[in-house]
Amino acid sequence: MKKNNLLTNGLDRYLKSLIALLDGHDIELLALARFMSFWHSRNQYCGKCGKKTKISEAGHVRICQHERCKEHYFPSMDPAVIVHVSSKERCLLGRKKIWPEGMYSTIAGFVEPGETVEDAVVREVREEAGIHIDKVAYQHSQAWLFPGSLMLGFTAIAKDEKITVDKNELEDALWFTRNEIKSDPRILPYKVSIAYKLIMEWLSKGD
Ligand SMILES: [Zn+2]
Repeated sequence: MKKNNLLTNGLDRYLKSLIALLDGHDIELLALARFMSFWHSRNQYCGKCGKKTKISEAGHVRICQHERCKEHYFPSMDPAVIVHVSSKERCLLGRKKIWPEGMYSTIAGFVEPGETVEDAVVREVREEAGIHIDKVAYQHSQAWLFPGSLMLGFTAIAKDEKITVDKNELEDALWFTRNEIKSDPRILPYKVSIAYKLIMEWLSKGD
C-alpha cells in the first residue's frame, strides 16, 4: 500500500541526508522529534467538532478547547512491515526510483486496517514483486522517521521465484546472491536501517 506522505518535501530530503551520519540512539531521538513535530502540525484542530486543540502533558496530548467536546488526541505511529525474502541461496530486493543509483532494499509497506502484520508481509511481497511466501518470522523493530512509522522487520521464504514488479510501487526487483551484494557496495540500503540489518544477518549465514 502506498501512503501519500512527506517523502518528497525538503525537510525530509535533508533529514535523509543526515541519517547516514547518526548512530542508533541519535536516530531514535530524531525519529521522536520528527514525529512529534509532524503530529502537532496535523492535529491543530479537533476532528470531531472542528475547534482548536491545545497542547497538554508536555506535548504528548492535544485537547479540544470546545467546552462540551474536550476530545483528547494522543500521538500514534503507523505500523509498517519490512521483510527479507530468501529462496535457496538468493534474496529478493527491490528499488524505488527516488533512491540513490544502484541501491536496493527489502520489500516494505504499511499495514492496512483489519489485517495482521503477518498478513501485511504476505500481501506486500505478493503485490510489489508477485512472489508468494511462507515461514514469515518476526525479527526486529525500529522507529522510522518517514513519516513516523514503526517498522516491524521479518524474514520469509519464497514459494516461487518468478518476479512480477508492480511499477507503481517499485522501479525494479531482483534476486541477488550473497556474492553479488558483497561485490557491489551501492546495493545496500542505509546502515542505520532495519533493512540493512536484515540483509547483513542473511549475508552472515552464508559464511
Ligand atoms: Zn472537539
